[in-house]
Amino acid sequence: MYYADMSEYRLQLTSDDEGLSFLAIGWLDEAYPFTTGPTPVEFQERLLEHCIRGVHEPTLGFHTCQFCEPQGFTSDGRSIITKTWVHYKGKRFFIDNGEIWIPDGNITYSAPVMIYHYVTVHHYRPPEVFINAVLRCPLPYEEEYLAFVRSLKEPFNTDLFDFYRDSETHNYSELY
Ligand SMILES: [Zn+2]
Repeated sequence: MYYADMSEYRLQLTSDDEGLSFLAIGWLDEAYPFTTGPTPVEFQERLLEHCIRGVHEPTLGFHTCQFCEPQGFTSDGRSIITKTWVHYKGKRFFIDNGEIWIPDGNITYSAPVMIYHYVTVHHYRPPEVFINAVLRCPLPYEEEYLAFVRSLKEPFNTDLFDFYRDSETHNYSELY
């Protein structure tokens, strides 16, 4: 699913966005070039908190990274791609399903949870306005952020979803 950075983004599952305008960030696709460059460590750290603990709009199934090299090929020639995961507080979490929301005034940025992988592994550099918004944004478990989430009609309990994504709890295979 490709959206150009800063293009209008329509939430798919949440029914009421209270008049907020959502803009897409980091919905990359191998068919389109993306900007690369260094990003501040504090930005990466705060981004990770959102990608683990502030996940919204989970869908069935998961995405694989189009920029990672295949780990091999099946007998009928299909690529074997490792599921994308990160270390967080000593555990492994998959970041391959759902999106994060970064509110910034009247705008909210929507990015796939895989954006952390794109930034740290593939050196994707999102627009400066998004980097600054992440630096300013409260962390996803802080009251100010929770109040923002409560203002939206989100049909999921994301606490349960966090548990679902805990790869050690569920002992998922790394490959599929
Ligand atoms: Zn990758």
